[in-house]
Amino acid sequence: MFIKQNYINGHWVETKDVMSVINPATKERIGEVSNSGTAEATLAVEAASQAFVPWSKKTANDRSQFLYQWHQLIKEHTDELAQIMTIEQGKPLKEALAEVQYANDYVLWYAEEAKRNYGDTIPASSVNKHIIVKKEPVGVVAAITPWNFPAAMITRKLAPALAAGCTVVIKPSEETPFTALKLIQLAERANFPKGVLNIVTGNAKQIGDVWLQDKRVRKLTFTGSTPVGKLLMRKASDTVKKLSLELGGHAPFIVMKNADIEKAVEGAIQSKFRNAGQACVATNRFYVHEDIMERFTDRLIEQVSRLSIGNGLNNNVDIGPLINEAAITKVMDHIEDAVKKGASILTGGKRTMEKKGYFIQPTVIGNVTDDMLCMQDETFGPLAPITSFKTIDEVVDRANNSAFGLAAYVFTNNMNEAALFMNNLEYGVVGVNDGLPSTAQAPFGGYKESGLGREGGYFGIEEYLELKYISIGSFIQN
Ligand code: NAP
Repeated sequence: MFIKQNYINGHWVETKDVMSVINPATKERIGEVSNSGTAEATLAVEAASQAFVPWSKKTANDRSQFLYQWHQLIKEHTDELAQIMTIEQGKPLKEALAEVQYANDYVLWYAEEAKRNYGDTIPASSVNKHIIVKKEPVGVVAAITPWNFPAAMITRKLAPALAAGCTVVIKPSEETPFTALKLIQLAERANFPKGVLNIVTGNAKQIGDVWLQDKRVRKLTFTGSTPVGKLLMRKASDTVKKLSLELGGHAPFIVMKNADIEKAVEGAIQSKFRNAGQACVATNRFYVHEDIMERFTDRLIEQVSRLSIGNGLNNNVDIGPLINEAAITKVMDHIEDAVKKGASILTGGKRTMEKKGYFIQPTVIGNVTDDMLCMQDETFGPLAPITSFKTIDEVVDRANNSAFGLAAYVFTNNMNEAALFMNNLEYGVVGVNDGLPSTAQAPFGGYKESGLGREGGYFGIEEYLELKYISIGSFIQN
């Protein structure tokens, strides 16, 4: 079930140096994977570089067939992938199953999209000329991914890259390598030619540095925190690589006076407590109209106190553990800071079952002000701070007053209000009466310090393509 080797140039290769992987629900060691560094990262780039020309010269139809085959194998191994994910990442099994399906939606979408990589012809300004615009794969792609969505963050990058004709080197997070390795094993079974996909686990800095310095790597696609994203962006500048960065978020969740309270609470639970709040699009701050503040808060507290905490492998668990001790510390710091500045804990607020794993109670806090840490910094945990507002202009300003711009949510039953939010929120993803907007066919990505580029839909493949403009003069006089 748990694969521990790197996959380079079509071979599973072991390293002497290994590192342990921990189950965050039990703190037990699940197994070990390769602790690779410079040497393995270099071999991976060499393999991807050699495989690039033959892979990019295959027909789009051929590449599409490999992706269809991979999709089918992921579908057949959904249960196994979900189990692995829950064991290493902690999310409840039902969420892990949903993530595998979501991850596989990208593989299917880009199996289809591979065949629609259309170029353009453009009317020229001279009768003797023709203008053609061709799309070509950018080259070797390096993909560095986080632990919170261990399958989807990989397929959302690999599927469009492979469809476009790129080859890839991948480094998953050290916290969740097993889901990634299983996905690559399934890709191997789908018969992708050797060198087309390569995966290396281990020392993030060493591996990242090799890939960022190597001129053969033409593109970095990264999902992770904003500080690491900025660092990689600086390093990528030396060789002017194409970049996609999916970084942190700080989503506002706005509830208008006329909103359907039940729907708003349902959206709040989805957007705040899925994956125990460890999602880049997770709600970080609730703004509720003052007239319905009490009704909304009471109903939210009622629902939150019903959420059951535990090992994600057990039935009926809603909230699994956080990923590690540092994640718990961050949430507790945010709660402590808020309480010090006058907030009150309405439900939760404590660590729980700490001997067993990294658990924290789902928490709602009131009397919140915008100067609190949780209203500015990404909490990445199950903490819901609620504050009230009076006017729509005020709430738009407060919602936009952030360095981040990934996702925002609005609940309203008034079309004019909805239109105002759609036009004025400075966010890449806006859910109107929708707490779960992510889907394979739509563009996903952020404004401001939430990143660069988009993943998903027909937009996502563009990130792996160069445009070649060809100007053709006449061969013979007309
Ligand atoms: P992270 O600490 O930035 O790590 C992300 C990846 O970068 C991991 O594979 C990590 O490796 C690697 N890394 C760390 N330092 C590196 C370095 N110096 N050079 C090269 N690679 C390096 O983020 P995380 O804690 O895993 O993930 C949580 C963050 O991701 C949150 O901020 C969340 O909002 C963001 N996120 C964004 C999106 C989006 O689509 N916008 C989606 C999901 C998550 P190791 O883990 O092995 O150290």
